[in-house]
Amino acid sequence: MPIAFDTSYARLPERFFAALEPNPVEAPRLLRLNHALAAELGLDPVELSTPEGLAWLAGNAVPPGAAFIAQAYAGHQFGHFTPRLGDGRAVLVGEVVTPTGSRRDLQLKGSGRTPFSRGGDGRAALGPVLREFLVSEAMAALGIPTTRALAAVATGEWLWRETDLPGAVLTRVAASHIRVGTFQFFAAQEDNEALALLAEHARARHYPEAEGPLGLLRGVIAAQARLVARWLLVGFIHGVMNTDNCAISGETIDYGPCAFMDAYNPATVFSSIDHQGRYAYGQQPRIAQWNLARLAEALLPLLAEDSDTAVALAQEALAEFPEHFHGAYRAGLCRKIGLPEASEANAALAQELLALMAQDKADFTLTFRTLCAAAESPEADAAMRALLTTPGAYNAWAARWRPLLPAGAASAMRRENPAYIPRNHLVEAALEAATRDDFGPFEALHLVLGQPFEEVPGQEEYALPPAVERPGYQTFCGT
Ligand code: AMP
Ligand code: MG
Repeated sequence: MPIAFDTSYARLPERFFAALEPNPVEAPRLLRLNHALAAELGLDPVELSTPEGLAWLAGNAVPPGAAFIAQAYAGHQFGHFTPRLGDGRAVLVGEVVTPTGSRRDLQLKGSGRTPFSRGGDGRAALGPVLREFLVSEAMAALGIPTTRALAAVATGEWLWRETDLPGAVLTRVAASHIRVGTFQFFAAQEDNEALALLAEHARARHYPEAEGPLGLLRGVIAAQARLVARWLLVGFIHGVMNTDNCAISGETIDYGPCAFMDAYNPATVFSSIDHQGRYAYGQQPRIAQWNLARLAEALLPLLAEDSDTAVALAQEALAEFPEHFHGAYRAGLCRKIGLPEASEANAALAQELLALMAQDKADFTLTFRTLCAAAESPEADAAMRALLTTPGAYNAWAARWRPLLPAGAASAMRRENPAYIPRNHLVEAALEAATRDDFGPFEALHLVLGQPFEEVPGQEEYALPPAVERPGYQTFCGT
């Protein structure tokens, strides 16, 4: 059964992309196929597992009706603008329309060189591919908008990244791969015709109720503000929030050096290349707003004929970001401590807890999960005191918090506060074993992360921070 591709992006003018030929890998081997996601997409996992399906997932063959293009984009990387980035190691195979009528890109990451590769080899290493697989699927299970992982294929080839590493290709699924940087690509060339076509394509695809380019901008601002609030509420650090890694759809995209923090500290940075802490946990709302200002700038020529009017409209739209962000963040924080009303007072109480957690270096996920038990019974207060170690501080806080809890608070809190997140030490152990071809730990972790809110007896170790704290833990782009 052929995949029913509809390649609307490839119908845009030629300067939006580069058409590619397959760049075959030596010995493709299917490492993992996401059967549940395949079903959601209306794809047949059995067919994808055949030699023909494997050749598609490895980028060795083009499925009938596919587009097979590398998308052009620009981007601000750590604040510096590069007018031409583009898919240097990815190919957009095409868009599938799912049984429920939504449109999803299928993209192969690590599929070989493209006209945008610059000095790179166009390939991806197994470790980062599996890392993106695990973390993006964990984010999806947490209910956070994200690209998904359909398949991981080993290439049978080695690549050089300071050392020899096995190669792999990830099949990524996204509402689209249109980025803030895609708009910047055309804005930098003052190609207003392309800008208008792209804006209309993105609007119709992601914000069909919105009107015109301004409606698109306002939609992206709201979606990104809500997305970053969701990240903060689970302790996620994207790690490389460049404008080319900021999706117009409002999905989390480009899992490179991303990580979840263990001990709560808003200054947490894991990325080995983020020396200034530009993309630290607590900086993410500010950076998202900065990225959206770059989007607004790119869209200026479409907002109004007169540039003063365009700037005023863009500024008005950007001014909506803090409200969207704080609204979503505040409501989420209140729900995390079991208080359904997102009032100033409830949010302040939650902030006090965060301040205690920061002071005592309490584990972010474990503290909120333990608080669910404390909402059920004061018997769990001892466990809270073991996490919040400043003498008397938790008791004083809990004495004000407990009387505010409505009936059923604990179970509502357990739907907000995950027990299981992709903790760095677990992810590292799973990837290390997988590079030795032992997929046991990867499978086990993947399974646990698929039900993050359901505590299962026997899975205790997955809920705990590392036994020994690892100061200076670093993540890498893996490119
Ligand atoms: P990233 O840091 O992964 O978001 O990538 C930034 C830019 O570098 C994008 O244009 C990528 O396509 C490109 N890139 C990353 N890795 C490679 C690679 N191995 N070969 C070619 N281009 C790459
Ligand atoms: Mg990127």
